[in-house]
Amino acid sequence: MSDKKPFYITTTLPYVNSDPHIGFAMEIIRADVIARWKRAQGYDVFFNTGTDEHGAKIYQNATAQGVSVQTYVDGYAATFKELTKALNISDIHFIRTTDEKHVQAAVEMWKRCYDNGFIYKKTYQTKYCVGCELNKTDSELENGKCPIHPNREIELIDEENYFFKFSEFQKPLLDFYASHSDFVIPDFRFNEIKSFIERGLEDFSISRLKSKMSWGVPVPGDDDHVMYVWFDALTSYISTLDWPDEAGSFNYWKEGAPVQYCGKDNLRQQSAMWQAMLMASGLPNSRHIVINGFIISGGQKMSKSIGNVINPFDVLEMFKEVTDYPEDVLRFILLHEVPSFEDGDITIDSIKTAYTAYLANGIGNLTNRIMKMATTYGVLYTDYLGGGELDEKQYNYPGVWSKDYESFNLNSAIKNLFGTFAALDVYIQREEPFKKIKLDESEAKKDVAYLLHHLLQSSYELEVFLPKTAIFIRNCVHENKMPEKPLFARLP
Ligand SMILES: [Zn+2]
Repeated sequence: MSDKKPFYITTTLPYVNSDPHIGFAMEIIRADVIARWKRAQGYDVFFNTGTDEHGAKIYQNATAQGVSVQTYVDGYAATFKELTKALNISDIHFIRTTDEKHVQAAVEMWKRCYDNGFIYKKTYQTKYCVGCELNKTDSELENGKCPIHPNREIELIDEENYFFKFSEFQKPLLDFYASHSDFVIPDFRFNEIKSFIERGLEDFSISRLKSKMSWGVPVPGDDDHVMYVWFDALTSYISTLDWPDEAGSFNYWKEGAPVQYCGKDNLRQQSAMWQAMLMASGLPNSRHIVINGFIISGGQKMSKSIGNVINPFDVLEMFKEVTDYPEDVLRFILLHEVPSFEDGDITIDSIKTAYTAYLANGIGNLTNRIMKMATTYGVLYTDYLGGGELDEKQYNYPGVWSKDYESFNLNSAIKNLFGTFAALDVYIQREEPFKKIKLDESEAKKDVAYLLHHLLQSSYELEVFLPKTAIFIRNCVHENKMPEKPLFARLP
C-alpha cells in the first residue's frame, strides 16, 4: 500500500452469455476516464472489472453448445480481457467469479449474512426469467413473458430455497440514502430506487437446488444447494480485493470511497441488493453508484433480428485503415456521442459522421495545421512565454471542468474540451497567421506560439479521454514536428 490516498472504482461484471456489448464498452471506458483522472490527481487507484460466470443461463448455453461449462466461460473471459486491451483500459484488476479467491469470498459473505440472521430457508413458488436471472411478478410480465426476453419461456420454480431478508433493509437503506444525497447518480435514478424501496421490499431467494442446476458456488453447510448467481456475483467487488482478508487491499474499499459504474438495468441490484448485503455482513457501503443509460441504434433496441447490433470489435476494425488509434475513435464516440445518463442513439453512419467532424476535420486537421505553421515559421511552444521554461504540471487538469468529473458528467467534460479545440480552429480562421506571416512576421509567430501553447494544454486534458491521441499531439508539440501521416485520415 502506498502513502497516496486510495480510490476504488469498478464496472459491473458482464455476464458471459454473449459477446461484449457496446454498452459494456461504454461503461468500462467511462470508468477508465475516472480512474485516469484520479491517478492524475495523485490517488492510488484500484480499478476493477471481470466476468460473471455462474448461473442457469450460462449452464444452459454451454449445454446447448455441447461444451463443458468451464470451457464455455474460459472462452468468454478471454474475449472480455481482449476487449479491455483493445480499448486501452488502464491498469485493471480482472476478477472472474470462478476464481478460487472469489468463491471463498462468496462463501464467507454467505456465512456472515447467515450468522447475523439474514438468511433463512423456505419453500416457495415463483416465476423466473432465465434471461434476466431474476424473479418476476405477474405485473412485470407482458402476456406471460418477460418484456426484455419475449422469446424465452418463463420458468416456474417450486422448491425449498434459502432467502435473504431484504425486507428488513427498507429503513436502513432509506436512512443511508437520506444521509448520502449523491449516492446514486444521476438524481432521477436515485429517485427511482428510493420509490422502489418505499413501496416495500420482499425477501429474495439466494439459492438453487443443485440437482436442478449445479453451476454455482456451493452453499456452506448444505450440499443440496448452490448460490443464486447475483448473490455470488455482487461479492466480486470485494473478492477482487482479497476480502475476507481485511488487512491489505481491502483498504481500497474501506478508505477509497468506492465508485461503481453500471447500466440502468442494474439499478436495483447495485444500489439496493448489494448495499443490503454489505449492511447484513457488517461491511461499509459503496460511495457512489453511477448509472448509465442504454445505447440504442436507429431508434430501436439493438437486436440480432433487426440487424442493428454494433459490436465494439467491429468498430475498432472499421477504423484500422484510417488511424493508428482506432481505440481512441471508439472511446470518443462513446464519450462524446452518448449522453452521460440518458439513453443514446448511435448508428454506423452517425459514428462515421462524428469521426469526420471531430477527429478527421477536427483535432487531426487542427494538429496538422498548427504543426505545419510552427515547423515552417520556426516557432516553439515555449515562445509563448518568451522562450522561458514552462512548468507543464500546471496543465494537469486546471480544474475548469472538475465539476463535470466529480459529478461523472463525462459527456459534458469532453464536449467542453472539444469546444476548446474548435475555438483554436476559429482563432486560425480569424487571425490568419498564414497570411500575416508575409506582412507582420512577429505577430504571426505570436499567433502560432499561442496556438501551440493551447494545443499542448488541451492535450493534457485530452489524455484521460483519448490517451494515445493526446500523447501523439504532445510529442508533435514538444519535438516541434509535423505528424508523419494524418492522425485521423479521411474515411474512404
Ligand atoms: Zn428477462
